[in-house]
Amino acid sequence: MTLTKDQQLPGDLPLDPRVDASVARDSFTVVNPATEEGIAEVVDTQSDDWLDALTRAVDAQDEYSPFTPRQRADILRAIYEEIMARQEDFARTMTMEMGKPLVEARGETANTADYFRWFGEEAVRIPGRYAQSPAGAGDIVVTRTPVGPVLAITPWNFPLAMGARKIAPAIAAGCPVLVKPAAETPLSMLLLGQVIWDVLERFSAPRDLLHILPTTQAGELSETLMADPRLRKITFTGSTAVGKILMRQSAENLQRASMELGGNAPFVVAEDADLELALSCAMQAKMRNGGEVCVAANRFLVHEAIAGEFTERLTEKMNKVVMGNGLEEGTTLGPMITAAQRDRIHALVTETVEAGATVHRGGEVPEQTGYFYPPTVLSGIPAGARILREEIFGPVATVSTFSTLDEAIEKANDTEFGLAAYAFSENAHTCQRFAKELAAGMVGINRGMITDIAAPFGGIKQSGFGREGGIEGIEEYLDIRYIGS
Ligand code: NAD
Repeated sequence: MTLTKDQQLPGDLPLDPRVDASVARDSFTVVNPATEEGIAEVVDTQSDDWLDALTRAVDAQDEYSPFTPRQRADILRAIYEEIMARQEDFARTMTMEMGKPLVEARGETANTADYFRWFGEEAVRIPGRYAQSPAGAGDIVVTRTPVGPVLAITPWNFPLAMGARKIAPAIAAGCPVLVKPAAETPLSMLLLGQVIWDVLERFSAPRDLLHILPTTQAGELSETLMADPRLRKITFTGSTAVGKILMRQSAENLQRASMELGGNAPFVVAEDADLELALSCAMQAKMRNGGEVCVAANRFLVHEAIAGEFTERLTEKMNKVVMGNGLEEGTTLGPMITAAQRDRIHALVTETVEAGATVHRGGEVPEQTGYFYPPTVLSGIPAGARILREEIFGPVATVSTFSTLDEAIEKANDTEFGLAAYAFSENAHTCQRFAKELAAGMVGINRGMITDIAAPFGGIKQSGFGREGGIEGIEEYLDIRYIGS
């Protein structure tokens, strides 16, 4: 890899050293979305690299199998420590390639490290079961074995954490992983690779447990690898459309699959909610990562008696957001990832306004370098508008109203997605109804941020299936074996 702006990137960011340098390859440019400048050239891996990585991964699994649960835990704990030791390098790299404010990039780095610590702790607790056959036919022993080589495909919005949720449980369970990072943001993942390879070497574990395969040919990569029966699992975080393609591809070799897909989270505010709490959580649920979050609040549903005040106070909070280059301390909103994403968001806003919505702030693309889009607040959204059906994935809040609890729940659930939902009320009965009746894999009650390494993250309906984090997360990488004796 040639760094064109290496004075700012943390020095040495190698390509996976096993990629054969004698084979001529194209490269692609990683762009800083805040400056629109190329910051690195990354070699575009191709099918020889992918298949070679799989062959090496298969061998690595055998080599790694004698490692005890405690040894695996120690490896993961060491990775946690090394990531934390280089937190600033990770944060700067991530901000430069993805745009998020440095403070959030530091947070994502710590969260990434935490997944390694958590799954290190889980490596020594992989459960089994013993029972006697009720009919006295013998003993039943249930064990768990590693699934086998895993392909992990990750998005650009959380360039490190989305990979960490897959790599850490895979290594804890005993599986090798091939990671394909998003082409927009491969640098943080390459840096993570460097850290993990160093730790594996220190523990005399096979470096081939992890391969990182940046490429611009995502479709060809998944097709090639998934057509190979040696690959046993696909774990994907990204859009529902791509998730469906991968599910079709997984049918051929019946690879196990985890699909963390898109969302359309409702954020319901009941009449008796603590409004200040709801507003600060609204900012968190909407504006974290510039709104480029699968669990971002996509639709604010506010009781009609307080919707006016909610909208006004939300707009005041949005006025205080500081938009700029994420590397500058004090920035609270960075650029969108690409010009195309910014334009998509703007088209969604324009279409909604043309259909009659009111703009309280924002709604215009600023004339400045970088793919910036301002905090935007809209109300009076026409029923059935596309902005209510699709993921906005940007700093745009839409406020709609309801008059009864039944109507709130019905509107909240009126989506094909089912990833996250948020609800606010000071009444225990109302909270209970929200907890039971909101149709989502994750429900936040009086909270705007519920992601936690110790909790199962994942969705229902078109948001996919499978869970990451928690004690459930490692199960995705384990097959169940029953031994009758
Ligand atoms: P995307 O689906 O376009 O891309 C995700 C990854 O898939 C990238 O690495 C991309 O290169 C790769 N990809 C694209 N086409 C492919 C193909 N045909 N075969 C194999 N791989 C392919 O999504 P995106 O725009 O990068 O990310 C945003 C989406 O991710 C949003 O929908 C968001 O909700 C979702 N997301 C979900 C979660 C979750 O945990 N549920 C978390 C973060 C993001």
